[in-house]
Amino acid sequence: MTDPSAPPLHVELLATGDELLTGQILDTNSVWLMDRLWDLGVMARRKTLVADDRDDLAAALHETTSRSDLVVMSGGLGPTEDDLTAEVVAAAMGVPLELHEPSLEAIRERFRKLGREMTPNNAKQARFPRGATVVPNRFGTAPGFSVRLGRAELVALPGVPVEYRGLSEEWLLPRLAARAGATPAFRLVKLFAVPESHADQAMRPVMDDPRNRGVRFGYRAHWPEIHVKWSAAPASAGATSESAETRANEILEQVRGIFGDAIFAEGKDELAPLVVAQLTRRGERVALAESCTGGLVAELLTRVPGSSSVFDLGVVAYANQAKTGVVGVPNDLLATHGAVSEPVARAMAEGIRRVAGSTWGIGITGIAGPTGGTPEKPVGTVYVALAGTSGTEVVHRVWRGDRDRVRKTTAYEALDMLRRATRG
Ligand code: AMP
Ligand code: MG
Repeated sequence: MTDPSAPPLHVELLATGDELLTGQILDTNSVWLMDRLWDLGVMARRKTLVADDRDDLAAALHETTSRSDLVVMSGGLGPTEDDLTAEVVAAAMGVPLELHEPSLEAIRERFRKLGREMTPNNAKQARFPRGATVVPNRFGTAPGFSVRLGRAELVALPGVPVEYRGLSEEWLLPRLAARAGATPAFRLVKLFAVPESHADQAMRPVMDDPRNRGVRFGYRAHWPEIHVKWSAAPASAGATSESAETRANEILEQVRGIFGDAIFAEGKDELAPLVVAQLTRRGERVALAESCTGGLVAELLTRVPGSSSVFDLGVVAYANQAKTGVVGVPNDLLATHGAVSEPVARAMAEGIRRVAGSTWGIGITGIAGPTGGTPEKPVGTVYVALAGTSGTEVVHRVWRGDRDRVRKTTAYEALDMLRRATRG
């Protein structure tokens, strides 16, 4: 919890569903909630996945509620036979299930509005353990509920992700934040292509700084993005939440000093939308000649709403004739240096910029693998060129990893070059 003098709130997650254990469905609910809890300064201590099985569910309920303060359950609130949550919780509490009229009416109303026939098993979703607090669900049919069980508060939420998230946002998280007193100050920076171990090493002095005791640091690696985040508790020794904000900002200054240009975004910003926004602000446009990334940069850019005002043309120039014929790369460059070379990347960027008449041209060539590497140009060798009004910049890298990783990292690198060239 955010008050370091109070014992930390012990939170566990419990998800039920056969589909979670057969590999059909990923337990995205828990991952999502853990992230949101972390923003509140709460780290979930464990998570359990259990099949739709009475005995297993009862055992998991007993275990989790006897050691935690809060257990958040996902799933098993549907209308079908295999949805057992309410029944098993009631049995664990030693109470009967009772019909909750307002919920039944809400479910009836929902079906009326959708113009669908309500089947008798939908009424099952309005039955809760006696004494439960019902959590209304305006995102779907199954309400959630909350009870006391063992030493815990048990909150059962529907498994459908929009419902799980909706009820968490509306009901669970505000209550937790209120219990925490004040929300911690939270900051996030996103780094491009900094290995997590390097990030951790570089952050050591900040994390070991005595002024930052009680600040929680975390990493998330989603290559080539590494997210570094921290949350400063407001309530340390009578301090106000203003001082938590100050602490979080001072850390931000330290982190900027450490990572500099490797930080491509702060907060929730994302790379491609950021680049589109910067180009839009400057009234500039871009064209792409992609070889090894096969159109990935075009895809990343055109996914962003409004990209049509900054994106002119993207060519996947794979064959040599495409590089010469369409993009205008001179034949002799290809013959002398090979397709994967600095001069060819440069000529691709300058060529496509000319062809499209854009402010910026990007040329990408490389060896994504797994075949095609040589001792001089191993798999992962890439050249990314950015041509603009004041010349052309070319970056040469040798990325490690498989084909997907090399392509994705290279696409990000191209966008990141454009980001740095167009900021301000
Ligand atoms: P349930 O509440 O158990 O009826 O779940 C309804 C649907 O939500 C399931 O069919 C899944 O597609 C989805 N679902 C259930 N549990 C999860 C979970 N932990 N993460 C993501 N999706 C889930
Ligand atoms: Mg289920």
